[in-house]
Amino acid sequence: NRRPIIAGNWKLNPATISEAENLLKLISGNFKNHRTLDGPEIVVFPPFPYLTTAINELDGTGIKVGAQNVGLETKGAFTGEVAASMISSLGASYVMLGHSERRTLYKESDSDINAKVHLCMEQPNLNVILCVGETEEEYESGLLKSVVDLQLKKGLMGLKKEDLKRIVVAYEPVWAIGTGKVATSEQAQSAHIAVRGTLSDLFGVEYANEVKIQYGGSVSPASIDELMQMPDVDGALVGGASLTADSFTRIVDGG
Ligand code: 13P
Repeated sequence: NRRPIIAGNWKLNPATISEAENLLKLISGNFKNHRTLDGPEIVVFPPFPYLTTAINELDGTGIKVGAQNVGLETKGAFTGEVAASMISSLGASYVMLGHSERRTLYKESDSDINAKVHLCMEQPNLNVILCVGETEEEYESGLLKSVVDLQLKKGLMGLKKEDLKRIVVAYEPVWAIGTGKVATSEQAQSAHIAVRGTLSDLFGVEYANEVKIQYGGSVSPASIDELMQMPDVDGALVGGASLTADSFTRIVDGG
């Protein structure tokens, strides 16, 4: 009874607004009068400057729009920052937090991520996709469960049970991101069980069972069907393959 959720993380792409418009028009064309009501929830995460364009272009398709990050401040003298209220007031409905690229390249800590989760929860209309996942080294050392467990505990610290309804967890093994090395459906399923186990420890089994857990890392039309057959894989967070309307649509539709 968890409605699947397929999300496209555009990362730092495409380079210009006109390319973004082209991609959005193609996606919008594919999903106009489409299966969005009975199919999965669909979200796209363009870079900040394209958010309003995305919201306008996707109007009428049921596709939601989210931001890839948010700042730690709410207002004032913080040059270059973006506040959660700004994202929310545009009409975006999601914020992605804790992506491995943010953690590694921009040194975001679990406590930064936790603070950002809380800032998003203060906005009534924002949902959060919280990304977690282990590195290849951690995976090889059998540390998957303990790494993901700690990321979830710290990332969700202080959250109320009701807030959990607005949280989606994306399990993204770092070794699978942008490598073409997709986790097997069994690997994904067992990691998702670990995630759900931690959520159950934190919030109780009933709440944990309602949380959607996406798999991310080299998802393509070729790999989506097997992944989605797993009982605890509730969707996908798609990077590279979300940058063409055709492959993103095929992933939403299944293979
Ligand atoms: P790829 O699908 O390009 O491997 O990226 C996954 C990802 O990081 C989505 O957030």
